[in-house]
Amino acid sequence: MEFIEWYPRGYGVAFKVKRKILEEQSEYQKIEVYETEGFGKLLAIDGTVQLVTEGEKSYHEPLVHPAMLAHPNPRRVLIIGGGDGGAIREVLKHEEVEEVIMVEIDKKVIEISAKYIGIDGGILEKMLSDKHEKGKLIIGDGVKFIEENSGFDVIIVDSTDPVGPAEMLFSEEFYKNAYRALNDPGIYVTQAGSVYLFTDEFLTAYRKMRKVFDKVYYYSFPVIGYASPWAFLVGVKGSIDFMKVDAEKGKKLGLEYYDPDKHETLFQMPRYIVQML
Ligand code: SAM
Repeated sequence: MEFIEWYPRGYGVAFKVKRKILEEQSEYQKIEVYETEGFGKLLAIDGTVQLVTEGEKSYHEPLVHPAMLAHPNPRRVLIIGGGDGGAIREVLKHEEVEEVIMVEIDKKVIEISAKYIGIDGGILEKMLSDKHEKGKLIIGDGVKFIEENSGFDVIIVDSTDPVGPAEMLFSEEFYKNAYRALNDPGIYVTQAGSVYLFTDEFLTAYRKMRKVFDKVYYYSFPVIGYASPWAFLVGVKGSIDFMKVDAEKGKKLGLEYYDPDKHETLFQMPRYIVQML
């Protein structure tokens, strides 16, 4: 038995699976959990791979730590999406963090991840019962939340792809609200899809962000389970130089994939994409 995710142009990612553990239709999306032969559990939303438990750090580390290590003092962090708990787990490795607010639209993703995925180390369960010391969970739309809140040092968008509930998270209006919601200095980071297969979506998001943020950066990382390389976009408010990170601080985090000492290698982007940018 296999789980196959088809990308555009007939390109796919496949896992051999031992069994399907669960399939549920939530108010927003179809959630599936499988046990794979070689990569632990697989979480899929609307047929797209969100993570495999043996390999998810290849996504969550490059999503979270470059921004957290480029910011001089990231104390208040907002995560939009991230219902599997991987992003908040990585954010909480930074001792200076005082508060993390996670806004996830779909409570079912959190409940299923807490019970069947288990990459969060118990954080989700605590947040669900409002007992986490630093993490606060809000079940709601990140688009609405950002219109009404501010005061964040780092904003991380760990969303599904820009269709369905995540579509507005890639709009110019949302970027404007995110810019306003950031402290100065502040950093915004979002996953931005497959460089090769969602090139247009990536270019569109980059161009919109250029209109809003003081500086915009892009980088990519090979992620297990996704059609690699996977793109990330960064928007800066104020004077942060995202090409530089605190590598000494990074060494203490015990990372497995992203190497803060080799931060500059993140910016290896296929030349034809750079020319398009
Ligand atoms: N790592 C994953 C990836 O790139 O495929 C993303 C993981 S996380 C499970 C994505 C989450 O974003 C989903 O649980 C989904 O419910 C949430 N999401 C999508 N749109 C959202 C919105 N507008 N506000 C808050 N959360 C949203």
